[in-house]
Amino acid sequence: MASPEQRQTEIAQGLTHIRELVEAKRTTPTARLVAVSKLKPSSDLQIAYDLGQRHFGENYVQELADKAQELATDIKWHFIGRLQSNKCKMLAAIPNLWAVETIDDAAKARKLDAAWASAGRDRPLNIYVQVNTSEEPNKGGAEIDDVPGVVEAIREQCKNLRVIGLMTIGSIEGSDQIPNPDFVRLVKLRDAIQSQTGQELELSMGMSGDFEHALELGATNVRVGSSIFGSRKMKN
Ligand SMILES: *Cc1c(COP(=O)(O)O)cnc(C)c1O
Repeated sequence: MASPEQRQTEIAQGLTHIRELVEAKRTTPTARLVAVSKLKPSSDLQIAYDLGQRHFGENYVQELADKAQELATDIKWHFIGRLQSNKCKMLAAIPNLWAVETIDDAAKARKLDAAWASAGRDRPLNIYVQVNTSEEPNKGGAEIDDVPGVVEAIREQCKNLRVIGLMTIGSIEGSDQIPNPDFVRLVKLRDAIQSQTGQELELSMGMSGDFEHALELGATNVRVGSSIFGSRKMKN
């Protein structure tokens, strides 16, 4: 185990390095770094927080709820894990939840919309529609052809949600290719939806291994975990 001082140094180095790369590689006026902190202790997040990091990404609803209670209320939480309908209420109970990045059908969106409404929030909850760009059978995300309909349904039916962008995880194989075919598909889809609706959409794509390339292709939101906090133990 690293001492608290060692941990502080490691995270500071990681975070500073990633921030510099995000600024160097971004091709949009701003790009947001989401520090992915799943399976890391709150003390690690506190170190990043003290270095000015505010956007954090978590994959498990219970873990997110626990950390949100422990840590500062001006953190902007992103939920980036698989969302089960029965967890919408627990998620909506987190007052400083900033975005849910993994909505892939209208029914789930309606559940979350209702939960956010009954929690009495005075702002809409930001949503990214997750796209299964690699068409892998067991992967989360809407099929490409269904995405425009999901975006439209949320905009029409979910008054407490605000669709701000599209998100992809992409396939392992694709992450070795330049250009990454998943990112290219997400960009094309975003452009098509934007030109139909006239509303701008963000792109959430890129993780530790490929966020620099994602930024070159226009990512506005990158989700970086292990390059900041170090490698993780697998859950279970
Ligand atoms: C874990 C995770 C990340 C971060 O992955 P790293 O390779 O550790 O940077 C990004 N996005 C999602 C959806 C994740 O589950």
